[in-house]
Amino acid sequence: MKHFDPERALVATRREFGEHGGVAPSVERSATFTVLEPHEMPEIFSGLRGPEKDGCFLYSRHFNPTVDVLARYLAAMEGTEFAACTASGMAAISCTLLQLCRHGDHIVSSNTIYGGAHALLGDLLPDMCIETTFVEPSDTSAFEAAIRPNTKVIYTEVVGNPTLKVADIPALAELAHQRGLTLVVDNTFTPMVVSPAQLGADIVVYSMTKFINGASDLIAGAVCASRDFIYRLMDLHTGRLMLLGATMDPRVAFDLMQRLPHLAIRMREHGGRAMALAERLSDLGAPVSYPGLPSHPHHKRMTELMNPGYGYGGMLTLDCGTTEKAEKLLSVLQNKEQFGLIAVSLGYFDTLISCSGSSTSSEIPPEDQAQMGLSAGLLRIAVGYTGALEDRVAQIERAVKAVGLV
Ligand SMILES: *Cc1c(COP(=O)(O)O)cnc(C)c1O
Repeated sequence: MKHFDPERALVATRREFGEHGGVAPSVERSATFTVLEPHEMPEIFSGLRGPEKDGCFLYSRHFNPTVDVLARYLAAMEGTEFAACTASGMAAISCTLLQLCRHGDHIVSSNTIYGGAHALLGDLLPDMCIETTFVEPSDTSAFEAAIRPNTKVIYTEVVGNPTLKVADIPALAELAHQRGLTLVVDNTFTPMVVSPAQLGADIVVYSMTKFINGASDLIAGAVCASRDFIYRLMDLHTGRLMLLGATMDPRVAFDLMQRLPHLAIRMREHGGRAMALAERLSDLGAPVSYPGLPSHPHHKRMTELMNPGYGYGGMLTLDCGTTEKAEKLLSVLQNKEQFGLIAVSLGYFDTLISCSGSSTSSEIPPEDQAQMGLSAGLLRIAVGYTGALEDRVAQIERAVKAVGLV
C-alpha cells in the first residue's frame, strides 16, 4: 500500500487566503447568494451551475464557500474525493446512515460505539424499520455471520468507545466490498493517527467536537466520502443533510479551519502523554488499557493500522471494578490532585475523565454493556497536554494509590 501521511496531504492542498490577502481565510456569512442574470437561478436549481461549476452558490444550507473550504481540507487530510461538514458528529452519522438505508434495510454494527450512535441504531432507526445487529468489533467473522440479504452497511469505530477495542478495518472493507455493502467508519478518536479511507473504508465520519477542534467550545461533524455520495447528501429532493438541515454554520467552519493546522502537533502530544501515563500505570500494576501498550489485546493490529509518527491516540481507560471506586478515584483526580476535570468528551487541552457506564455509554442497556466488556467501574481518561508531564504522572500515581487501586 502506498504510504499516506495526513499532515503532508493537508499541507499540500490549495490554501485559502483572505479576500484582501489575509493569512486567515475570509468568512462568507451570507445565507443567500445573488446572481448576475435571472436565467442563472434556474440553472443552479437544475444543477447546471453550482459551487464546482462557475462558483455559483445558492443558499448556505446547501453549499457555503467557507464551509466548503473546510470540507476540502478534511477531504485532503483523509484522502477522500470530497467531504461535507455537519452541525454535529451525530448529524454526520445519522444523515449518512439514513442516506444509505431505507425502510426494511439492515446494518451490522460494532457493539462498542459511542452511546448516541448506539441509541440511533438500536432505538431510533428500528422505528423506521431499519434494524441493526451489534457484534464484537475485533471479530471480522462476527460481522460476516450477521450479514443478511437486506444488509446495506457495516458500521464501526476504529478504536471503540470506551473499551478501546480495535476493528480490523482492511478486513472489514474487504468483507463489505465482497458483499456489495458500504463500510462506514467513525474516526473521531483517531484523526491523523488512522486514515480509514486509505484502509478501504467507503465513508469516514467525524465528531469534530473532539480532537479536530481541540478547544471543547463548539459542536461539529464531518462526512468524508466520494463526490457522488456528498452530492447525494446535498440533493435538493432527497439529500438527507440538505433536507434534515443539519449543516454547518460558516463561523464554526472558520474556527475549525484555524485549528486544523495544529491537529498533528496536538495528536502527537495527546498520544505521547497517554503513552507515558499508561506505561507508568502498567508498571504499578494498575488495570490500565491503552492500545500503545504491548499488553493491549489489539496492540499489534493498531500498530499495523496507524500512520507512523502520530502516536496511539489520547484515550486510555482504568478499570476500577465498581462505580463506587471509580467515583472515588474521579474525586481524588479532580479535587485533590487537579489531574483533570470530571467531564464527558475528549480532545480538550485539559484531561477529561468520566465513568463511561453511567455517562456517555448510559444509553447502552446494562446487559449490552456487559456483553461489550464495559465494566461499571471503567474510567475513560481523555489525556490532555497541559502541565508538566512528570507532575501529571506523579498525580495519577498518588491517586491510584490513595484509592487502593494498586
Ligand atoms: C462525541 C462522539 C460522537 C458524537 O458527536 P457530537 O459532535 O457530540 O454529535 C460520535 N462518535 C464518537 C466516537 C464520539 O466520541
